[in-house]
Amino acid sequence: MTDLAVLAAGFGAIPLASILLYSFRAWLDAHREVVWGGFAGVIAFLGLSHAMAFVLEGKPFLFAGNDSLGAASFLLTGLALGGLLGWFLFEGPLIRTEPASIVWATAAFLALHSFGDGLVLGRDFVGASIPVVRIDSLTVSGTVVHRFVEGALLLVPAFAARWSLRGSFVLLFVPLVSIPAAFVPGWAFDAMGLAGGSAATFALSTFLAATEASVALMLLVRGFLPIASADRGSRWIVSVMIGFIGISVVHFLVE
Ligand SMILES: [Zn+2]
Repeated sequence: MTDLAVLAAGFGAIPLASILLYSFRAWLDAHREVVWGGFAGVIAFLGLSHAMAFVLEGKPFLFAGNDSLGAASFLLTGLALGGLLGWFLFEGPLIRTEPASIVWATAAFLALHSFGDGLVLGRDFVGASIPVVRIDSLTVSGTVVHRFVEGALLLVPAFAARWSLRGSFVLLFVPLVSIPAAFVPGWAFDAMGLAGGSAATFALSTFLAATEASVALMLLVRGFLPIASADRGSRWIVSVMIGFIGISVVHFLVE
């Protein structure tokens, strides 16, 4: 279990390093169409392509594969929950200012995403006597880039909302939820046995991915794209493509 603890801590803590971007906040603010456009591409990949692929791929295996209608309504609940969460953060009565609602919606998206990433990391350690995690320089650098980008994604709206250095840094603790998440598959295994534990972990991962996808869609169309496209011109479109393709390539290295 020590290996998992070390990996999970490293994996969880990488986004904290993106606080270095605080020195570049003026530049990030001055190049909104490029920065917000690029991150819109990242959100589109992580939330819509990646999470949704996981949902579609996972659906036939939910409930031991013999309750298709049950699996569909289970995932529908996840999608609806994400939509409601996104709606609440953007349109609800709690957060009144526009920049703050984007910060919190991004935090919700990254919390769901990081928890899912943690579950996947922890799952590799359950059952097998030798963990099947690949650790080579390519995988490690791919993971570092992926997690750094996630931290940056959280900081861009925080800087735009004029958050202080300390507030922005505290916000970066959100992706740390991947650390407890990495231990969930092990606990589920201890509590329910191998078959029950892995089925429960899998159901949780798929459900959270569905929720993540809906939150990502709201974040994209209500948060990042309107800001990226506010400055006229077409540079933001190029940035969206670069962000989308760039984070895809990073994932080709990791998976
Ligand atoms: Zn991730």
